[in-house]
Amino acid sequence: MFIEPRVGNGRELPRRGWIEVVVGSMFSGKTEELIRRLNRAKIARQRVEIFKPALDTRYHAEDVVSHNATSIRSTPIAFPHEMLLPASSCDVVGIDEAQFFDQSLVEVCNQLADHGVRVIVAGLDMDYQGKPFGPMPALLAVAEYVTKVHAVCVRCGDIATYSFRKTPSAEQVLLGETDSYEARCRHCFLEGQQERTALGTAVAEAAKH
Ligand code: ADP
Ligand code: MG
Repeated sequence: MFIEPRVGNGRELPRRGWIEVVVGSMFSGKTEELIRRLNRAKIARQRVEIFKPALDTRYHAEDVVSHNATSIRSTPIAFPHEMLLPASSCDVVGIDEAQFFDQSLVEVCNQLADHGVRVIVAGLDMDYQGKPFGPMPALLAVAEYVTKVHAVCVRCGDIATYSFRKTPSAEQVLLGETDSYEARCRHCFLEGQQERTALGTAVAEAAKH
């Protein structure tokens, strides 16, 4: 369990910023953990703002909602720099689904932290092919605190670190939930990839005849 180095500002303490990153596969509890940390900051009477990419409207246009149905009000934005003005009067900034933002997110998070804001970023570390996703690798590098959370493999019950896409689409961004993705461990993820390749080859062969 992550314990904040400091939740409130205390009476005499100067404002100090830093970056926390919460990563993992789909269903690993990233959003739940983000909401937990932000709620604790609110209890400490911190001024909190939450942002998410405008393209992610799966559950709600404005709320950040976990698979467990906990939610928190957020502001959808298209580009990371849109955070700078509203976040300047905040103590804590939360960002969900950060993998969907472009690389400028790293600079924006650094700027906010440099100016004394505690920045908590949650996002997928890998895409459906197991490749590092968007700005996440760079954010992991610059963050003071990194938490990797894990889902449960729906096939074997092992620890899951991959988001396996059940549909054949080859787009990196395909919004969807239990109908499109499932959490898998390394072994079951690899098996799924191999089954898909084998199926693709069989379909291509059949089309020739
Ligand atoms: P994330 O933001 O990482 O996608 P959430 O915080 O939204 O995850 O949801 C986590 C919740 O998802 C868990 O508390 C659990 O109730 C539910 N869940 C559904 N499928 C799984 C799974 N395969 N492994 C773990 N939790 C799962
Ligand atoms: Mg989430």
